[in-house]
Amino acid sequence: MSIFILLNLHMPLNHSNPTTKGIKRALLVALLCSTLLRLSAQTYSASIRQYIDYYQDTIALVHCYLADVVHKRVLPDQTVVMEHGIITATGDSKKTRVPAGATIIDCTGKSVLPGFVMLHEHMFYPAASESPFYVHFKQLPVTFPRLYLACGVTTIRTTGSIEPYSDLSLKQEADAGSIIGPEMYVTAPYMEGPGGFAPQMRAIQSAAEAKEFVNFWADEGFTSFKAYMNLDGEVLKAAIEAVHARGLKITGHLCAVTYREAALMGIDQLEHGFLAATDFIKGKKPGACSYSDNPLASIDPRSREVMDLIHVLVSHKVMMTSTLAVFEGLCRQDSVPGPSVLDAMAPDTRDMYVKYYSHEKSAGMDSALKKDLIMEKEFSDAGGLLTVGTDPTGNGSVLAGYGSLRAIELLTREGFSPIEAIRIATYNGATALNALDSIGSVEAGKNADLVVVEGNIQEDINRIANIKWVFRHGVGFDSQKILKQLNGQVGKY
Ligand SMILES: [Zn+2]
Repeated sequence: MSIFILLNLHMPLNHSNPTTKGIKRALLVALLCSTLLRLSAQTYSASIRQYIDYYQDTIALVHCYLADVVHKRVLPDQTVVMEHGIITATGDSKKTRVPAGATIIDCTGKSVLPGFVMLHEHMFYPAASESPFYVHFKQLPVTFPRLYLACGVTTIRTTGSIEPYSDLSLKQEADAGSIIGPEMYVTAPYMEGPGGFAPQMRAIQSAAEAKEFVNFWADEGFTSFKAYMNLDGEVLKAAIEAVHARGLKITGHLCAVTYREAALMGIDQLEHGFLAATDFIKGKKPGACSYSDNPLASIDPRSREVMDLIHVLVSHKVMMTSTLAVFEGLCRQDSVPGPSVLDAMAPDTRDMYVKYYSHEKSAGMDSALKKDLIMEKEFSDAGGLLTVGTDPTGNGSVLAGYGSLRAIELLTREGFSPIEAIRIATYNGATALNALDSIGSVEAGKNADLVVVEGNIQEDINRIANIKWVFRHGVGFDSQKILKQLNGQVGKY
């Protein structure tokens, strides 16, 4: 179809006035780009096609509940039409015309959601070994991209890389359709200061080094950066300036620098809700990372002190990523993970988790998690842009995909409704990536990145885990078939 449209657009181009000419050229470029990036069933190899249920040019999902994240409501009896990977119509099933020849999927009793846009993702996981907790990471380039997509995550932003060239390759392969995986926005290797715990992180010592680091990885193709715990204020400030000079964004899992200090320096985003904030740690020395397993111990989450920090963050337009699932793994009161997560793990990984990592619990985490949830809700209510991510690290209980769904579910524990949680995981994520024109909601003109789940999502957020199909650019994958094939594999590769 693209060649004809391109030609038709091209012909009158010469006869148009300059303004129309500009618009037509923009359209042409947009079409050309979308043609180049278009994934169709033909793009995928036979080994991948066995997981694809729907690949037709025109598909209509009819009689579904639709998660309308723009207006924060769930609409009954809706139709969604997708053509050539793009959503072309949505609306009431009685009024929405389905094009002739469309493949019609009856979605009675099912909900259609925008594909999830998760913002704290990794392609690695704690390695199966007797090494001390939290030191060695292992890249999982085969299983993680598949887990993400099968669990409805159609877009991710990685948030710190340990194998940067592997992450870049995975992005290219997912774009080309040579692997099953989400669209990837890639973050460079961690920007850490001296004293970090992971061997994969460079210790950046000076402002000049930070600038050089940023420019090197930006040249390599990374589009965002992550400042880590031991980076000091002066170096962080230089990093922020260097990243912004490239027109890119920087987030932080901070410790040595407080949230307030980072906001004043112009950081774009903060990871882990308020659980990495050292603003409230009594006796914290400026510039020193004083880790506490309950950084929120001393404060009331609705106190004036907290509201004041939230005001600083919101007025400086600092975004925040909630990562509740990875912290839930460290809580004492919750029994995580569920049986499907243990089944997904490779035998070595399951042994490691059950015998060793699962006992890594944090005494203060139960109370800290509850406080953090309240503070994240206050931040959002105050106008802050809250996003959500998985962070598949911690004590190993959080896998890509399964953990993503859990992170979304947990948002509803202290006040967000199911549709608000879904909005945070879709619309807000797309907003943070400046990608709202193509993803983040089910609206005509956007990529047909959709999740179809059993049941009415309004009634029970846990239904996001009952996924039937995940559409990426209009190609419908059988979620359960992918997950079944991965059982016993995660952690191996
Ligand atoms: Zn992380």
